[in-house]
Amino acid sequence: MPELPEVETIRTQLAKNVVGMTITDISFPDRKSKVLRGDLENVIGQTISDIRRFGKLLIIDLAGDYSLAIHLKMTGRLYLVKLGEELPPHTHLILTLGTKVLSFSDARRFGYVHVLPKADVLELLFIKRLGKEPLKDLKIKDFQALVQKSSRPIKNLLLDQQKIAGIGNIYACEALWMAKINPITPANTLSNAQVKALFQAVESVLTEGIKRGGASDNTYRNLMGGKGNYQDFFKVYARRGEPCSRCGTPIERMSLAGRGTFFCPECQK
Ligand SMILES: [Zn+2]
Repeated sequence: MPELPEVETIRTQLAKNVVGMTITDISFPDRKSKVLRGDLENVIGQTISDIRRFGKLLIIDLAGDYSLAIHLKMTGRLYLVKLGEELPPHTHLILTLGTKVLSFSDARRFGYVHVLPKADVLELLFIKRLGKEPLKDLKIKDFQALVQKSSRPIKNLLLDQQKIAGIGNIYACEALWMAKINPITPANTLSNAQVKALFQAVESVLTEGIKRGGASDNTYRNLMGGKGNYQDFFKVYARRGEPCSRCGTPIERMSLAGRGTFFCPECQK
């Protein structure tokens, strides 16, 4: 699933490439696709004015009264091509922008494109419930308070979007390795030093992820169809059996809250 660095990469590319362009036409192979919500005809003739991101949710603002809220979930992709170029399979929405085409495809159909009045964007339940975001408004004091209040495994807390926005499985595993914390440790049993180290590790892995254009270990592609390369720098994620780069112990995998969780049994006791 695309996480904060992947969605931020797409946001940056959208801001650079489609702001100022006008939606001249719209089409959807399947009008009843559950991926699409709201009256899509409202966007025709509108000029794209801004691109915002709330956690993993993208907002394309139009100069008029409407916005598009887009969540990629597991396999959603936004793809910008020249008019006439081939679109990916499972394309649900095609926005023509003069000589270019912005499409939304989603093989597994968990993602969505939702047209709504711009005034309602901040009222979306997703945004209202979203926790503060690292590198943005989540400060060390907020993080310490969240950790102290929770007896859940620390990794599950990191993944809870209503507590902390934007972190998914990859960056949670990587940050916990960096901070030398076992993923199942109850959050409120961490020492102050561990909490500080983890906060710094979260900021560090997200910053690195953004710098590398995200991670394309599976289906993620950016707006131009290219891959990120953060997967080449994974320390534990998807590296089961390979030696830990810090101590040489083979990386292990366990299941935690249904998610594959990678860690070093020596460094993260
Ligand atoms: Zn190790």
